[in-house]
Amino acid sequence: MRLTRYFLPVLKENPAEAQIVSHRYMLRAGMIKQQAAGIYSWLPLGLRVLRRIEAIVHEEQERAGHILMPTLQPADLWRESGRYDDYGQEMLRIKDRQEREMLYGPTNEEMITDIFRAHVTSYKDLPLTLYHIQWKFRDEMRPRFGVMRGREFLMKDGYNFDVDRDAALHAYNRHMVSYLRTYERMGLTAIPMRAASGPIGGDNTHEFLVLAQTGESEVFYDDRVTALKLGQREIDYDDRAQVAEVCREFTTLYARTDETHDQAVFDQVPEAHRKVGRGIEVGQIFYFGTKYSESMGAEVTTAEGHKVPVEMGSHGIGVSRLLGAIIEASHDDKGIIWPEGVTPFPVGIVNLKQGDAAADAACEGLYKALAAKGLEALYDDRDERAGAKFATMDLIGLPWRITVGPRGLANGVVELTSRRTGVSEEVSPEAAVARIAAIYAGVR
Ligand code: ATP
Ligand code: MG
Repeated sequence: MRLTRYFLPVLKENPAEAQIVSHRYMLRAGMIKQQAAGIYSWLPLGLRVLRRIEAIVHEEQERAGHILMPTLQPADLWRESGRYDDYGQEMLRIKDRQEREMLYGPTNEEMITDIFRAHVTSYKDLPLTLYHIQWKFRDEMRPRFGVMRGREFLMKDGYNFDVDRDAALHAYNRHMVSYLRTYERMGLTAIPMRAASGPIGGDNTHEFLVLAQTGESEVFYDDRVTALKLGQREIDYDDRAQVAEVCREFTTLYARTDETHDQAVFDQVPEAHRKVGRGIEVGQIFYFGTKYSESMGAEVTTAEGHKVPVEMGSHGIGVSRLLGAIIEASHDDKGIIWPEGVTPFPVGIVNLKQGDAAADAACEGLYKALAAKGLEALYDDRDERAGAKFATMDLIGLPWRITVGPRGLANGVVELTSRRTGVSEEVSPEAAVARIAAIYAGVR
């Protein structure tokens, strides 16, 4: 992408309404535009990151059925589960021209149960997991912090259906592990913490929290939990023992939010490791058994021929909130520092002397060589001062920058700079392309 043809409305000044760094940088980097409290348009740079995050979420939903449910739902479905009255003012209620009561979905347990009961009647079709990534609306009392607490926001929500409690708990564990992997690929450490269930219901639930001072939840944890990584280990999601063991590894050290905090247990953590901080909730998994299947009549026939309400759980990832969480976890005073897994462009090219024949040709050459390796660079081909170009690149946070100028080219080199460390190296243009290609080959 050439910057002269790209819609990147960067702001020089800090927007007064933004109280936290991610909101500030998302506005300044021209990623989003607010349209109403907690409702945003996604501009090209923001949309690219949103789509990257979605892609990672999709890739880690191994074998789950990908569907798309509508944003608008009939109120009657929610009357069946009893939640139409329970949900309160967070639910946006709408009437259509026939005076039929509708709502803009805040979550989809009822609708997915309706789909299930229409099509599945036998244990032979289980286990089944269905998910979608769809906009939700919750009329939050205090929408704030940009996309972190929006009213309209993008969520991945998945639902598992199993024949008995053990199978449903395995589905719960599978999702815990796949969520850990999902967040790791985004460059995040998201710690599973035992949680309270709220309006979804159920007795077994974990939230995933990213540590950040601006987080809305108070968290209490043994800091050794932050060092746990899945890394490259192979996981067989059908291996119940292996999956349960990974969950045990990640949930044994103390890590809880204020909702479930138990000071007496926390006091047993060695003092040097006992930490109190704040966290951003980027996802949650639930096991709630037959709460919806019983009230809505979603039954399956077991191998023994009995009819039983199907066992269920649900799992959510805050896709749009993740942009804010990633920025809160990865930035400096110049701007965003995208992890390679989610960056809008893998690399930026800065032409120090636009119009100089050699510099222009070298930039074009780099741009094409990167494209040939499947890497779309953001090429700053504007006729601007070098300082302004660097400031834009630093603000928008691409992890790598190649700087091209007549002086370096005279010696056959360009400069390759890491946004994270600020370290620059002089290398040939070919070596720069090879290095970037090698870095992204390692990013699954
Ligand atoms: P919160 O406690 O932050 O209000 P929640 O527990 O009500 O969130 P869930 O029902 O667990 O939310 O939804 C799944 C995920 O969707 C959350 O973990 C969060 O990442 C995201 N999410 C929830 N509400 C919002 C919102 N208002 N704006 C952006 N993302 C949200
Ligand atoms: Mg939650």
